[in-house]
Amino acid sequence: MQTLKLTSSREDIQKAGEFLRQGKLVAIPTETVYGLAADALNGPAVARIFQAKGRPQDNPLIVHIADLAQIDPLVTAFPDSAQKLAEAFWPGPLTMILPKSERIPVETSGGLDTVGIRFPSHPVASAVIRAAGTPLAAPSANLSGSPSPTTAYHVEHDLSGKIEAILDGGPCTVGVESTVITLAEGTPRILRPGGITWEQLQAVLGQVEVDHAVLHQLEQGERAASPGMKYKHYAPKARIILVEGEPYVEYVNAHQGDGTAALCYREDCAALHVPSVSFGAAGDYASQARELFDALRHLDDMGARVVYARCPQPQGVGMAVYNRLIRAAGFEVLRID
Ligand code: AMP
Ligand code: MG
Repeated sequence: MQTLKLTSSREDIQKAGEFLRQGKLVAIPTETVYGLAADALNGPAVARIFQAKGRPQDNPLIVHIADLAQIDPLVTAFPDSAQKLAEAFWPGPLTMILPKSERIPVETSGGLDTVGIRFPSHPVASAVIRAAGTPLAAPSANLSGSPSPTTAYHVEHDLSGKIEAILDGGPCTVGVESTVITLAEGTPRILRPGGITWEQLQAVLGQVEVDHAVLHQLEQGERAASPGMKYKHYAPKARIILVEGEPYVEYVNAHQGDGTAALCYREDCAALHVPSVSFGAAGDYASQARELFDALRHLDDMGARVVYARCPQPQGVGMAVYNRLIRAAGFEVLRID
């Protein structure tokens, strides 16, 4: 299949909308990462997303809207808590899990009785949703298991020849996927940290829990609150080892070998004696989030085999950075002092 390259011109946004109405797949920019979009209400179209990505079929997709009026047919309840969060954070990088209506096909919900809804803030994402005239199911536009795409080039690398079109809207500004919060049962609980922080959610709702699997490996036999928690994620080809503690630079310099590289903060690069790729600056969690996935892909391009990575602080948006990087590392953490 020839993958058409689209721009964010008005004509190309209309073309993307037309493709989506026809059941085709189009990768689109959002403020979080690039999404691989299909008509969320068209089961066979959604099934093609799973095929193109190689995504396990029980891992549900988030449904993207461009107008609050689109929600009503998709869910059977919209509690007060959802109303408050929508007012505070939509449009933006927050996904709410709510009880689903019969309109959501089984392909989109992965067989669950809930659905994740998000109202993205990226102007091109909204324009494409409006042009399509239907909510869009859009997981990250990468091959399942590899780092999420934050540029159209990343999408092309993973999915060229497998999808009808890629719309290039420039690099993503948040750089990690949306925060996922479930409002479908009991106390609101974060299932995946992202651009909206725990602190921001608590400020609106009061009590908010963080699911145990956000920061820890699932125990044998532990039920995953979110199917995505079960799978390998965000991993480059290289083996990533998270190095927790100081002195990081001295540790890495003392352990260099063939194919060794560092995934570090910008300030570390000059003092390192191994090839290094930075992901943002120390203490600047937004820059870490924005740069992490590109840095992971860069390490593969360099042919790195063993990568010593800075262990990020799980605070603010840093919780999302830590959550992605510890999965990229397959939970391999080395503690030094
Ligand atoms: P992605 O589409 O790549 O951003 O991944 C979406 C994430 O949200 C995955 O980890 C899913 O398992 C999770 N998710 C989507 N819908 C639901 C749902 N209804 N209940 C729980 N988790 C969900
Ligand atoms: Mg993904």
